[in-house]
Amino acid sequence: MSGERVTVVGAGLMGHGIAQVFATAGHDVWLVETDPAALASARGRIRENLSRMARHGLVEDQQIEAVVQRVVPTSDLARACKGCDIVIEAVPEDLSLKQRLFADLGRYAPPQAVLCTNTSAIRIAEIAAGVKGRERVLGTHFWNPPFLIPLVEVVRTEETAEWAVEAVCVLLARAGKHPVRVKRDVPGFIGNRLQHALWREAFALIDAGVCDAATVDEVVCNSFGLRLPVLGPVANADLVGLDLTFAIHDYLLKHLTADPAPSTTLRTLVEEGRLGFKTGRGFLEWSEAAMASIREQLTEHLMTTLAECKRTGDRSASR
Ligand code: NAD
Repeated sequence: MSGERVTVVGAGLMGHGIAQVFATAGHDVWLVETDPAALASARGRIRENLSRMARHGLVEDQQIEAVVQRVVPTSDLARACKGCDIVIEAVPEDLSLKQRLFADLGRYAPPQAVLCTNTSAIRIAEIAAGVKGRERVLGTHFWNPPFLIPLVEVVRTEETAEWAVEAVCVLLARAGKHPVRVKRDVPGFIGNRLQHALWREAFALIDAGVCDAATVDEVVCNSFGLRLPVLGPVANADLVGLDLTFAIHDYLLKHLTADPAPSTTLRTLVEEGRLGFKTGRGFLEWSEAAMASIREQLTEHLMTTLAECKRTGDRSASR
């Protein structure tokens, strides 16, 4: 067992996977959940993830039951926080819910415990506003699925102490994650700002009738999407030459959308109840088989990539 005791709050899509990451690294993990069904299924979901990972050689079969048993599901937040070293909150993306929870965490967790939020986009200082001991509050933005995607953005506020950032980065690295420090507490951090800048332009092109929705993905997946595993935008700019990049930006940027409101097509689809996989229709039409196939392809792709990195010792997926 590894030293630090971890508490994860929320056993949904992200929380159960985050608990799995730390339990796999040998930590005792308390997993707090208010919904009885989610609480009851948490260990089973972790076991299923691990079994599939074992088929790809990412964990040992004999390890699985011990990892699952290190996760203690509970509905008792105060008890789960007693004696913990780090809390990671993964409840729904609702500011007032997170604020109330952090006020409780400030009271229940030991004064030296680091309190982390897995918010996707909310400024950490807003979540920390009512907390006792704000120097130990920071963001740990995991990506879905947290047990397969290496990156965790570690976000500090103006009040976060360096010792807390350092402790969390060390813990994450030891658990096999790839922590990246975000130096300023801006909404969306780094990854989601980049991702949603692309999505905003994608939806604006659809709004303007430049192409249909399927064509956006066809263009991305058959062009620069192929380069991304090897080449991020900064190295790509260097590769093509900064003089060319400058010339393109000088001409093009004024033509890109800077609309602060969501796209009109997106708004209309949401108003019509076309929510994507949740309803079988979004920008595109989705049969049950097509949705299952995409999910399967994505999981297989991530597991195969990680297994290959592990086999060759190539760290490129987590560089
Ligand atoms: P989810 O809805 O799947 O899970 C949230 C869980 O929290 C639910 O099971 C709910 O019952 C539980 N919960 C609600 N209130 C609680 C409370 N007071 N105490 C304990 N449990 C409580 O949500 P998710 O997708 O796992 O997202 C959780 C957080 O992670 C959000 O802030 C989200 O923005 C962020 N996030 C999500 C993703 C993603 O891809 N889904 C990626 C990165 C970050």
